[in-house]
Amino acid sequence: MMKKLIIFDLDGTLAESKQPLTHEMALYLSKLLVVTRVGIISGGALSQFLKQVVSQLPVDTKLAHLYLLPTSGSALYEFRNDAWKKIYEERLSEKEKDTIETAMRAAAEETGIIDFSENAYGERIEYRGGQVTLSALGQQAPLPLKKAWDPKHTKRHALQENIAVRLPVFSVGIGGATSIDVTKRGVDKAYGIRKLCERTNVQESEALYIGDELESGGNDEAVYKTRAATCTVTDPADTLRTIKTILSAA
Ligand SMILES: [Mg+2]
Repeated sequence: MMKKLIIFDLDGTLAESKQPLTHEMALYLSKLLVVTRVGIISGGALSQFLKQVVSQLPVDTKLAHLYLLPTSGSALYEFRNDAWKKIYEERLSEKEKDTIETAMRAAAEETGIIDFSENAYGERIEYRGGQVTLSALGQQAPLPLKKAWDPKHTKRHALQENIAVRLPVFSVGIGGATSIDVTKRGVDKAYGIRKLCERTNVQESEALYIGDELESGGNDEAVYKTRAATCTVTDPADTLRTIKTILSAA
């Protein structure tokens, strides 16, 4: 049976980190949008979703079936009357942003994992509205460097733990290959999925989540707090095979 709602992680699942969807992925995602509703949830800002995903989709794609959940589910957008309309955003104030940034810098120094006096590829700390993200090498670091930085998750775990102790009233999670995401307490991918299920009138158990980091401590782990079915993929090529399988059974 076709799931009423299929939710994807973005980086490492639909596309390589911060890269656009491949032409084939865009084509099959568009085919999937004909037969079911699709949500995409990731730590990036809305602008990143538009660049990586929406701008790559074929022009006749049924965007009314697509739901975007940027900044780890702290916001939800749907496409109505030719525009992306914000349904909610759990926004962090400037003051909260400053508190979070101070904790990130202190954790980086105490653990010795990031030296802010060294040059980075763009800003290391980015305020994305509902989320503040710490990127160890900078926001624009090249993919091979990012992949080589913390292959065993040890640096990110150490940073996450140190920051979490400093910020008990926020949620602190592992983001991408080099990043830590901080949101309002209780705001994570599980929160986003619950809100999306409510919005689309789909039971959590009728939804399917597809992601590349469902393991313990991974970026998708919070999804287990929901009743959505889960599917682990290894990379975008694996996701593409999974979409093709789903479509062939439809
Ligand atoms: Mg991922």
